Amino acid sequence: MTERSAAVIGSGFGGLALAIRLQSAGIATTLFEARDKPGGRAYVWHDEGFVFDAGPTVITDPDALRELWDLSGRRMEDYAPLVPVTPFYRLAWEDGTHFDYDNDQGSLDRQIAARNPADVEGYRRFLDYSRAVYREGYEKLGMVPFLRFADMVRAAPQLVRLRADRSVYQAVARFIQDEKLRMAFSFHSLLVGGNPFETSAIYALIHALERQGGVWFAKGGTGRLVDGMARLFTDLGGDLRLNTPVARIETEGSRARAVVTTAGEVVPVDMVASNADVMHSYRDLLGQTPRGQAEARRLDKRRWSMSLFVIHFGLRRRHDHLKHHTVLFGPRYRELVRDIFRGSGLPDDFSLYLHAPSVTDDSMAPEGCSSYYVLSPVPHLGQADIDWAVEGPKYRDRILAYLEERHIPGLRDDLVTSRIFTPADFRDELAAHHGSAFSVEPILTQSAWFRPHNRDAEIGNFYLVGAGTHPGAGIPGVVGSAKATAGLMIADSAAG
Ligand SMILES: Cc1cc2nc3c(=O)[nH]c(=O)nc-3n(C[C@H](O)[C@H](O)[C@H](O)COP(=O)(O)OP(=O)(O)OC[C@H]3O[C@@H](n4cnc5c(N)ncnc54)[C@H](O)[C@@H]3O)c2cc1C
Repeated sequence: MTERSAAVIGSGFGGLALAIRLQSAGIATTLFEARDKPGGRAYVWHDEGFVFDAGPTVITDPDALRELWDLSGRRMEDYAPLVPVTPFYRLAWEDGTHFDYDNDQGSLDRQIAARNPADVEGYRRFLDYSRAVYREGYEKLGMVPFLRFADMVRAAPQLVRLRADRSVYQAVARFIQDEKLRMAFSFHSLLVGGNPFETSAIYALIHALERQGGVWFAKGGTGRLVDGMARLFTDLGGDLRLNTPVARIETEGSRARAVVTTAGEVVPVDMVASNADVMHSYRDLLGQTPRGQAEARRLDKRRWSMSLFVIHFGLRRRHDHLKHHTVLFGPRYRELVRDIFRGSGLPDDFSLYLHAPSVTDDSMAPEGCSSYYVLSPVPHLGQADIDWAVEGPKYRDRILAYLEERHIPGLRDDLVTSRIFTPADFRDELAAHHGSAFSVEPILTQSAWFRPHNRDAEIGNFYLVGAGTHPGAGIPGVVGSAKATAGLMIADSAAG
């Protein structure tokens, strides 16, 4: 082989971002995707004129994405324009009160003062704290691979100073007294699969990240952003192979040598990176090697993040009173989160996230109609072995009835189309271990050096990218992991 080449397995945000970086650096890259479209958790469905984004819709840190186009002197706006979302979220409680979280300090102060005047000052101190964590945890450490324990030791003083041993909720509660405001400023870790009562306070940085870079929506839906990234990759000369599941990674000694597709094609490459689920990568793709088997056993002992139950639905009416993003808190917070992360069954109550993109973007539904998804965090399959083929339709009916009663009058009469995505679909469609929506749970003892590494410790030219490696889930996380992993791959390929 005369030119340097790489295979990236999986075209989630992390795989796409890595493939773009490698191809931009002159490494001939082939991106293998099992499904018929790129995007992974950011897949898209088109039903009867409605556009349904499967997963991420809250786009934060747009500069991290823009960098992917900057690398080749192109403009992100020509491929995937973003529009700002205001408020960032509405947080709503069952007693009919709500809090519109946005970037306008005056509006935030007024809303906080209305709940508890002392918390106005407390919020400012929380924001300062969150900004400090953002600078240390995201800007300095987020895109740096943690390959050696020494890397962790070097970061330890900052982690100690920022009290990374505390939970996100404890960090917020130090500054803010009102219980609903504590919920409003601590729920964010759930967006990356972390329990606010157990996840390290480092994840409080998400608040500063949103205040700093804003919350955005991709015009036409996240699917357009994914298409824009895929187009950038192919415009750069990259080879995107859809409908091409990889069956295994062939190794020779301690080197990956080729990827083998399920159709039996053997594609020799110099380097292999997997964006697939980390357990699937080691247990299945490297399952014939002692390294793959050993790492799969270790991964099986890890704590895995929760799963999600998602309903996509289209209505023949608009509901412009809704906000683009709404978190609907149920009657319990701490106890519900515990049941989701530790319980062995489906809790009776739920807290929901409602996505209503039609209030920002007319192109998401036919004229006069509106498109939605609602998601409920639920235990993963390793924890609660629920038969989703049976429970899914019942759970859907309960959630839609709840939404109709409280937020979207006439919902079921106006229903044009709907579909559900359950933990079993995360497992079967995305090869996600236990059907987890966010991979390895982001707790301190499973973060940074403790997380599966961006480069494997034994197979020197095998790398990971995406939610299961450092820094973790969420678009900024996996795009950051692509930067860390690309840095290693580009340096390794130059060295040898
Ligand atoms: C419902 C939902 C809502 C979310 N909302 C947000 C949000 O608003 N904002 C945010 O920032 N984050 C959000 N997240 C989190 C975010 O979507 C994920 O963390 C991120 O998209 C994961 O990207 P990834 O790079 O890890 O790859 P994934 O999306 O996990 O993609 C992996 C890809 O690998 C492919 N693959 C697997 N095995 C093989 C194989 N053997 N051969 C070939 N291909 C294979 C899969 O088909 C898939 O395409 C959300 C997640 C979910 C599920």
